[in-house]
Amino acid sequence: MKIGCPTEIKPQEFRVGLTPSAALEAVNNGHDVIVQSGAGIGAGFDDAAYEAAGAKIIATAEEVFAQADMIVKVKEPQAGERKMLREGQLLFTYLHLAPDPEQTKDLLASGCTAIAYETVTDRNGGLPLLAPMSEVAGRLAPQVGAWTLQKANGGRGVLMGGVPGVGPARVMVIGGGVVGTHAARIAAGMGADVTVLDRSLPRMRYLDDVYGGTFKTSYASAQNTIELAREADMIIGAVLIPGAAAPKLISRAQLSELKPGAALVDVAIDQGGCFETSKATTHQDPVYDVDGIMHYCVANMPGAVARTSTIALGNATMPFMLNLANKGWRQACKDDAHLKAGLNVHAGQLTYAAVGEALGMDC
Ligand code: NAD
Repeated sequence: MKIGCPTEIKPQEFRVGLTPSAALEAVNNGHDVIVQSGAGIGAGFDDAAYEAAGAKIIATAEEVFAQADMIVKVKEPQAGERKMLREGQLLFTYLHLAPDPEQTKDLLASGCTAIAYETVTDRNGGLPLLAPMSEVAGRLAPQVGAWTLQKANGGRGVLMGGVPGVGPARVMVIGGGVVGTHAARIAAGMGADVTVLDRSLPRMRYLDDVYGGTFKTSYASAQNTIELAREADMIIGAVLIPGAAAPKLISRAQLSELKPGAALVDVAIDQGGCFETSKATTHQDPVYDVDGIMHYCVANMPGAVARTSTIALGNATMPFMLNLANKGWRQACKDDAHLKAGLNVHAGQLTYAAVGEALGMDC
């Protein structure tokens, strides 16, 4: 199979769909790999690295789309890219079709077969191609929060780990899933005093078993939430109710009860955010002030560490990409129900029920 990787063109997207190491695996499995010139630069991979892996460098996206049997990307295809997709071509990338009728219509019209990273499942009921980005965002959250807490950035002027004779920052993490656990581990590693709140008792039992002594857990009742928030220097929002907007757990009125200059890092902003005063920001202008409380609400946090994110995503997508290439999508999906769960569009038909429901389209 000929596998093609174009340069990402969505603004501020520096990741790339195929790492040189994934390209090498594909070549070793007998496939041809074509990569658009410069596709890996944002993630620190130059053309020579792909050539050394056995890939061929191609000048334009048009040629990559025209020649490849399978396109491997990171972000959903943009309007210009969608025009280049063709009948029978396989697209493997993040799609997020439910809120995006325009993209859905274009993919249906193209006749391509599209497998979405975000709906591929695993045997534990997890989302293995979303998890690496939650791990990145979670580990990044205390790092950006610590920066936000610095005086020059509008924060309280509190050091995460304190120093001998001065206590550490108090960090509360709301939501103890993938993002929250990684955030709590890093915050604790920086020396902060960390408490994770969740509404799932099984999850808190797990966290207590594995991380008891590293951080504390607390049930996420409204009362516990505001009591801990009053004492917190940093609050990290990491809740998820699958398929729903994030619940608002701290209201605008409650901001006045928080410590002046406290940092709110709302990782759940891509689901609308879990603080009433959250609104999405960008890496260029990540932090804003509401009533003296500093809000960091970047919706694509992994983009800040494009190299780590690209490699982490590539590690997760590679086995699926190789299966698709080795067996063809039909056989690969027949053999692996979890990969099949990623099938969103085929030959002008929507094949993912939740997307059909969200868009009011036949499936
Ligand atoms: P997850 O499903 O692994 O964890 C979510 C946790 O929230 C679960 O443990 C659940 O029990 C808990 N929860 C649900 N409702 C709660 C409530 N009311 N109070 C307390 N806890 C509650 O999800 P995840 O992978 O950790 O993702 C968390 C959020 O981060 C999602 O919205 C995800 O889209 C987002 N995210 C954002 C970025 C970014 O760049 N901003 C990157 C990755 C993930």
